[in-house]
Amino acid sequence: MSHPLLQPVLDPHALARSLSGRHLIGGELVSSASGRTFDVVNPAKGEIVGQAAFGEAADVEAAVAAAVTAQAEWKQRPARERGRLVAECGRLLTAHVEELARLITLETGKALRTESRVEAGVLSDSFVFYGGLAPELKGETVPFNPKMLTLTQREPIGVVGAIIPWNVPLLLMALKIAPALVAGNAVVVKSAEEAPFTVLRVCQIVNQVLPPGLFNMLSGYGPECGAPLVAHPKVGKVTFTGSVETGRIVYRTAAEKLIPVTLELGGKSPMIVMADADLDKAVDGAVIGMRFTRQGQSCTAASRIFVHDSIHDAFVAKLKAKVDAMVMGDPLDERTDIGAIVSPGQFEKVTDYIRIGRETPGATAHTCSRRPEDPALAKGLFVEPVIFTGLTNDSRLAREEIFGPVTCVIRFSDYEDVIRQANDTEYGLAATIWTRDLKTALDATQRLEAGLVQVNQNLVVQPNISYGGVKTSGLGKEASLEAMLEHFTHKKTIILNMA
Ligand code: NAD
Repeated sequence: MSHPLLQPVLDPHALARSLSGRHLIGGELVSSASGRTFDVVNPAKGEIVGQAAFGEAADVEAAVAAAVTAQAEWKQRPARERGRLVAECGRLLTAHVEELARLITLETGKALRTESRVEAGVLSDSFVFYGGLAPELKGETVPFNPKMLTLTQREPIGVVGAIIPWNVPLLLMALKIAPALVAGNAVVVKSAEEAPFTVLRVCQIVNQVLPPGLFNMLSGYGPECGAPLVAHPKVGKVTFTGSVETGRIVYRTAAEKLIPVTLELGGKSPMIVMADADLDKAVDGAVIGMRFTRQGQSCTAASRIFVHDSIHDAFVAKLKAKVDAMVMGDPLDERTDIGAIVSPGQFEKVTDYIRIGRETPGATAHTCSRRPEDPALAKGLFVEPVIFTGLTNDSRLAREEIFGPVTCVIRFSDYEDVIRQANDTEYGLAATIWTRDLKTALDATQRLEAGLVQVNQNLVVQPNISYGGVKTSGLGKEASLEAMLEHFTHKKTIILNMA
């Protein structure tokens, strides 16, 4: 299949300008009903890269109406045909990986080489993966009574509202949209205000393959655009990724409507390094787990690193040396490891936590890497990563989600005590333990309170691996077959009396 309309555009500035002021509704790029827009800023340079359409209730109305119409036809198609088209979207997106990676780099400030290309790759993989799962939308027969044929079937919910954050919008969008579509639903996505253009571009690309109205995209702020989407009477399911605070608001509205929700929320993930761990591998694991390459803006960030007393100082020295060697700079530059913080609000929040940490009695701040000296980046929102030592698990920095390049290395000496401390948090997204002892590793996997527990390894998010938090980190799972079946379909029971 050839797609002559959309060729990859490798200049992200040109692409952002071409997408300015638009939502995508019913297969068309359209202005917001009010004509209002808001600025989108490149955080590495402080320059405006375009204007996003300012979504409000009238835009939500138009997008949901388009979705309702499209879904009525889409759900009648054989599941395998839906899967084939979603997989085709994935293949089309593969041809746009470099373009999407550059655009997301421009909007969010994360580095092209270390972050954005990987994310754009997982986006296309997710569409291909879920497209192939269409034949799994199976029901079952139930041994109820020989005279009563009893069976179940999976039916789509209808219109799904998907709300995403800015840190990994492509990945998170894919894990919502692809299974929802394959299951026979239509979707309205609201992008994060910081990162609207890449999401819009994805929507534009896949709309070449999908029927119009099936996948609609709105840009806008939470209260004006996200809230009316959740509250819309024809939205039958909401899938949300973002903060605990907003998750609670979304959940309340969904509860009023009695509709199902999936919530992927914040974290304060523990990483435990036992005395017998391979020190160098654990240090590498901390760099990956803390997502320093994403400026620590990761829900699973290893932001509480518990290190055994006997190796604490060596671990800190090696970790500091590693992070020191990382290059902070222009995110579009291939040499850059660490980019900019996404927005002035986030910058202020992170620098405030660093100040609080520095003021905490007993704490030492180990500042790593260096702000770029390039004058073109003088207005960029760059924060040097900080490793804190001397803080306890009760300190604010160890309890609150910072969502920035700040981690706490906390000393421990007793295994039972460290398991207790690791679980002493409101969150439960991810946890890791580093040890050579199999018994300890297995014991920890059973006792750590998290949706994802890893041993001697840090962070994988793949479309086929179930992912999601416990405690305040969320509700429901994303990725895997289970997510498609459990979260994007209803199970209908049918009983036929054959007597
Ligand atoms: P946020 O909650 O501020 O915003 C997330 C989205 O919700 C945005 O699109 C925003 O516009 C929208 N929103 C805001 N108010 C709303 C409302 N009243 N109704 C409906 N929508 C509304 O979060 P953020 O700052 O964009 O993202 C960072 C947070 O996301 C962190 O807490 C992080 O841990 C979490 N996160 C979780 C995961 C996960 O998989 N668990 C992944 C990435 C990020």
